[in-house]
Amino acid sequence: MQLDMYNIIEKKKHGRSLSSEEIKWVISGYMSGSIKDYQMSALLMSIYFNQMDDRETADLTDAMLYSGRTLNFNDPTVVDKHSTGGIGDKASFILAPIAAACGVKVPMIAGRGLGFTGGTVDKVEAIKGFKTNLNLDEFGKQLLENGIVLMGQTDEIAPADKRIYALRDVSATIDSIPLITASIMSKKLAEGANGIVMDIKVGSGAFMSSKAEAKKLAKSIIKTADRFDKKSVCLITNMNQPLGHNIGHSLEIIESLETLKGKGPKDLTDLSLSLAAHMVVIAGIEKSYNKALKKCKQALSSHKALDVFKNLIKIQGGDTSVIDDYSKLDLAPCKLEVKATKSGYIKTFKNKKLGFLCTDLGGGRKTKSDSIDFGVGFIVHKKLSDKVKLNETVVTIYHRKTQQKLAEKIAQEINEQVIKITKTKPAKAPVIYDVLKSKKDKSK
Ligand code: URA
Repeated sequence: MQLDMYNIIEKKKHGRSLSSEEIKWVISGYMSGSIKDYQMSALLMSIYFNQMDDRETADLTDAMLYSGRTLNFNDPTVVDKHSTGGIGDKASFILAPIAAACGVKVPMIAGRGLGFTGGTVDKVEAIKGFKTNLNLDEFGKQLLENGIVLMGQTDEIAPADKRIYALRDVSATIDSIPLITASIMSKKLAEGANGIVMDIKVGSGAFMSSKAEAKKLAKSIIKTADRFDKKSVCLITNMNQPLGHNIGHSLEIIESLETLKGKGPKDLTDLSLSLAAHMVVIAGIEKSYNKALKKCKQALSSHKALDVFKNLIKIQGGDTSVIDDYSKLDLAPCKLEVKATKSGYIKTFKNKKLGFLCTDLGGGRKTKSDSIDFGVGFIVHKKLSDKVKLNETVVTIYHRKTQQKLAEKIAQEINEQVIKITKTKPAKAPVIYDVLKSKKDKSK
């Protein structure tokens, strides 16, 4: 039967399942230009309202995956991690070297920041000389030789996702579970990962605002990974406050290095160790999570993971002297302290707002073509349920000399809109809410 886009949109509009052939035809037609943006947008919106079942989601993943080049390492130890993104999320710089030090091969193709969150690729570029624009051949070679590689998105990997994501971005169809699943999984499968550990963040600084939605995404990712015979684990984690204390590119590299030296904040250290331990289990290096966690802790305390990170910087052309000399990073010279306006306990953080304020300082992008000031940002000294005294510093703003007025305005907004202080001490929330695994996964 002759396929046509009008009938396919009509079918999904009425909530019916699309066949494997129809999904494949849509992606190939969109990539060749015979299916137009306006038709694709209508289909995306129909998917947004009527969902896709597990088979359709896997078919969409498959069609997007094969829209570009694919790598296949045939090696169970190739395991990646993906985070849905959050404020101060620098865990990749810690967990990837830990996992690699334990024998996992970590193929990181990471994104850039836009809006309220920063991106891993931008953050690592705060290290002078660090080259992220590798091609796929260099990427594969480095992974096999060194067990770890970090590069930016390339047009070679899942180009259909790149085009469809850009369309979703302007057609209000980002927050669709099957579309997010196919977008993430097509890229992870194309880069040759045999397993994936997902960090799905929930809260005031995440794009998933409820645990129920995060669980739906986790289940969708796990079922899709199962269909491709890949291992997966999803952690649902707390993004109601920044991860660690530092927000901003150079500041986040400093905190990552401190954490790799064993002097990091507890939430960042614990989450990184846990994600790395799940990677070690999925890679088949350890059978039990507890044994894997012990191995990861040793990799951290012995500085083996720090050495892996140093080697990664060296191979990718970065300045390794930054490890012992943070003045090698561009840090804004002026500091403004935000003082608590009353005594009590930190009750809530409008975390997303903090991300947008960092962007206002130049530490993020409003549009894709904006350049980033690596040196600006915040150190958040007080975390949820911490005690604060009147006039105690809660946040330090790092800014440029020309930004005094802006920094003062941001300080006021932090006090009025970001941090809420109460008299009674709120209960401490966990960093990890839940861990979801495939039913096939028999590890302990
Ligand atoms: N991250 C992705 O790579 N794709 C999405 O659709 C959402 C988050």
